Order: sequence, then C-alpha cells, then structure tokens
Amino acid sequence: MHGIKGRVAVVTGSSRGIGKAIALALAREGAFVVVNYHSNRDLARRVVSEIRGRGGDAVAVGADVSNPGEVEKMRDRVHDVAGDVGILVNNAGIHRHLKSWEMSLEEWRRVLAVNLDGVFNCSRAFVPDMISMRWGRMVNISSVVALTGTDREMHYAASKGGVEAATRSLALELAPYNVRVNAIAPGYVDTDMVSFSSEEEREECMGRIPLGRMAHPSEIAEAAVFLCADESSYITGHVLHVNGGLAMR
Ligand code: NAP
Repeated sequence: MHGIKGRVAVVTGSSRGIGKAIALALAREGAFVVVNYHSNRDLARRVVSEIRGRGGDAVAVGADVSNPGEVEKMRDRVHDVAGDVGILVNNAGIHRHLKSWEMSLEEWRRVLAVNLDGVFNCSRAFVPDMISMRWGRMVNISSVVALTGTDREMHYAASKGGVEAATRSLALELAPYNVRVNAIAPGYVDTDMVSFSSEEEREECMGRIPLGRMAHPSEIAEAAVFLCADESSYITGHVLHVNGGLAMR
C-alpha cells in the first residue's frame, strides 16, 4: 500500500485486540505508531517492542480517551516525540452486555463517554495537525450493531450509531483539506471483548454469520490500512462492513 510510510499514526486502544493489529499493520507500512492504552501499560509496551523487533518505530502513550485533559497531554507528548499526526484511528471502545432496563445512567454515560466522546476528544486534538498539513486520514471503528441494532447493549449500539454519523460529518468538514474520514463496522472479532456465556450461545452467534466464523483482528486491520492508503484515494464518509456478511442478516 502507498502513502502511509513516514506518517505519524495514533491508534487509540492499541494495547490489545483490533487496535494492536491495526498498530502492527500501520507500522509494517512504514508509519511511526503511537500505541495508546488506558490501563495496560505493559501490554502497550510489548506492542511497541514487537513493532521495533520487526524494524518499525513506535511509542506507548497512556490516556483515557474519554478525558479531554488526558487526550491533550497525549497530543503534547506525541508532538514532542514524533511531530504532527497524519493518521488517527479511533479504535478504543468498551462494551457491556446489559438490557436497557438493567443499565444505570452511569453505565450508559460511561459507554458513550469512551466510544463517542473519545472520537470527539481525539479528533479535536489531532485534526488541526491534518488541516495544517493538508493531509490526513481518520478511521473510526464502529460496529455492525449500529446498523442492525442489538437486544442487549443499547448504549453500545447508540454510541456506534453516533460514531458513524460523526464520521460522515467529519468527512464533509475535512474534505476541503485533503483529509479523508471513514469508518469500519466489524461483526464478531476474536478479541477479549467477545465473550459468550455458553457454548450454545457461541454456536447460535456463529450460525448467524454468513461466512460462519469470527474475524481475526488482522482482517479488520487490513481494511484500516486500505482506508489510510492512497489506494482508497476517492473514498470518504464511508462505512466499510467487515463482518462476514452479518450486516445482511
Ligand atoms: P478489546 O480487546 O477489549 O480492547 C480494547 C482496547 O481499548 C484496549 O487496548 C483498551 O486499553 C482500550 N481502551 C478501553 N477503554 C479505553 C479508554 N477509556 N481510553 C483509551 N483506551 C481504552 O476490544 P476490541 O475487541 O479490540 O475492540 C476494539 C474496537 O472494535 C472497539 O471500538 C469495539 O467497540 C470495536 N468492535 C469490536 C468488535 C469485536 O467483536 N471484538 C466488534 C465490533 C466492533 P487497555 O488494554 O489499557 O484496557
């Protein structure tokens, strides 16, 4: 892929799971990667070591994306060590299995704060770099449930619906500055986030996926690389479904 080499890329929530796979893939393409984490500093440092071991370069920077002050500190640190940010992947997210009538207002607000405020806080921090460079790529990680809805995590689905609407709005605002903004809507991906209460529940979920299996995190990462690369030069404001066909159910 072209156009990623030499760029500074911030990947939120890249200590593990999908974010880690995206960090490794962007580093493979030649980006300097900022491995953001919330609480798992050791895991984030291991991702940095893995990137360096493969000949790339990266730094681990902690920040709770829901906290604007912490995001501003992350931005200042990134500017000190790497310079202006051209690629932002808003991946950090949390998820709770709860019926709408079981969740407290605090739980509702926490999921919205990380999944949706996080996109706002990080965009506000790094978009000015992209505008001044007249070059930028943003990829926001949504979920298939933004389209399909879900019967046990209304806050999560609402946050991802917001992420997709924000993606289209940012794409319109930033197109004049050569900044492209897209989203990816994964289905089930084999990470810590996905836990099934029973083998029966797992089989029922797999049975609903047309391709009949979960995704590997690298399958989401390769879609993110494509959306950051010159190969997707005319794509902006798009939600790319990478969910084995689950969006059609
Ligand atoms: P995961 O394995 O649970 O990893 C979550 C990552 O987000 C970790 O790196 C975690 O950091 C970080 N994080 C959590 N809260 C944060 C905060 N407040 N500030 C900064 N970082 C924070 O999740 P995943 O499955 O890779 O999911 C990644 C994204 O894909 C999420 O947006 C999720 O909604 C979306 N997604 C996942 C699936 C799926 O099936 N897995 C499906 C659709 C969409 P620490 O390690 O420090 O805690």
